[in-house]
Amino acid sequence: MFETENAIELIRKSERIVAFSGAGISTEAGIPDFRGPSGLWQDEDMMEKLSISCFQRNPEEFYRANVRLFSEIWQAKPTLAHRLLVRLEELGKLQAVVTQNIDGLHHAAGSRTVFELHGTYRTGHCPDCGDNFEMGHFYSEIQEGRLKVPLCSRCATPIKPDVVLFGDMLPQDAWQGAVDATSECDLMLVLGSSLVVYPAAELPMFAISGGAPVVIVNLEKTAYDSLAEVVVREKLGDFAKSALAALGE
Ligand code: NAD
Ligand code: ZN
Repeated sequence: MFETENAIELIRKSERIVAFSGAGISTEAGIPDFRGPSGLWQDEDMMEKLSISCFQRNPEEFYRANVRLFSEIWQAKPTLAHRLLVRLEELGKLQAVVTQNIDGLHHAAGSRTVFELHGTYRTGHCPDCGDNFEMGHFYSEIQEGRLKVPLCSRCATPIKPDVVLFGDMLPQDAWQGAVDATSECDLMLVLGSSLVVYPAAELPMFAISGGAPVVIVNLEKTAYDSLAEVVVREKLGDFAKSALAALGE
């Protein structure tokens, strides 16, 4: 495919790539996206279930409603597209991964510089004393019916997963890191995002105004297709396979 080759050529020439990933990079790991054909948006209550007001009003209901999603995320393994970004970092061509995902799969794959704009489900903290917790075993216990709400071992307050819920603020340090990396990049690689969630979707605009081309790999149209240098309409697994082969892995 002509676009795939063009995209790989741009990757080959670039030295300060910033990758910007969305839910589409993890669908091949079995985690549904929001707006794709079988996306989570098909469930109309999703926004309410994933809101800070739901967590504060009724933590038990929050965990009951979300535990299936949490467990799916917990069991997922990184894809070839996650691997591609690790390889680019190893080659010294990629300066950061910026992700909207909460699944922690970039870390699991081995990426080092990762800005998680929407946080992660893998860890949590106590809203009262600030203690930090690994969340995986709590999700298993909830699913097995042995636990209703994970509580802080120090003060018994319900633990909140470190994820940006609807109604939460973006983590400022991750956002600043993403903006700084983007302002210095020489290529932005957008992988599997519909680019409609703000302010995260502003980042490709920052790259373009800094003079960096944008490559988009996504199965469906995105809000930025007309501004991109190359748009690849291909499954990320297939794209990553071609790119890894071209980069010598
Ligand atoms: P989105 O669901 O709006 O868009 C995903 C895009 O990826 C779609 O346009 C779809 O066509 C494309 N896509 C799906 N599978 C693909 C594949 N195999 N190859 C190429 N393209 C593919 O996702 P978004 O833009 O990231 O916004 C969703 C929001 O939901 C984010 O804020 C994110 O925090 C959250 N979310 C995260 C996860 C996760 O962590 N894995 C999953 C669902 C939602
Ligand atoms: Zn506490």
